[in-house]
This record gives sequence, structure tokens and C-alpha cells, in this order.
Amino acid sequence: MTKNTGRPERRHRIVARKPVTVMVREKLVCPYCGNDEEFFEVAENAYVVVHFLQNEDGTFVPMEENMEITGVVKFYCGRCQADLSHLRDRL
Ligand SMILES: [Zn+2]
Repeated sequence: MTKNTGRPERRHRIVARKPVTVMVREKLVCPYCGNDEEFFEVAENAYVVVHFLQNEDGTFVPMEENMEITGVVKFYCGRCQADLSHLRDRL
């Protein structure tokens, strides 16, 4: 009986361990007034294209809106209007 000279069959068993990462998002809180609910963004130099469809009666229905922001996007607290842009990357 001859030994099998072919390529040895290699069987690798890959055990894929799914990383158990629990996403715990720290709430963003305004450091000035403690607000953690209301925020707003102001985009500078935004180019907005809205496509309308005109109805028979002359009214318009917005179909699609495309926005391209070329400027800075600032992020503000909705209560005290503090500039929280430095916290925005956590969003
Ligand atoms: Zn605030």
C-alpha cells in the first residue's frame, strides 16, 4: 500500500468568534445647560435641489430632495444654543 503522495488534505477548522461588543452609547449632554434631548445642526454652503411634480390643479408635490454640503456643519444645543460642534463626531 502506497502512501498518498497527493497534497495532504488540510482541514482547518476556523472557529469564528463573534466579538461580543455591546454598544453602549454615552448620551451627549450639553456641558452648559445639561440638555440631552434637543440639538440642531447648521450647514453652511448647502446646495439643495428639490424635485417637484406639479398636479393638475397647479399645486406642487416635492418628490425628491438632494443636498450637498460644501461648508462647515455646526452643531448646537437646542436649549442654550451653545456651539457643540466639537462633540458632533460622537454622533
Ligand atoms: Zn445647552
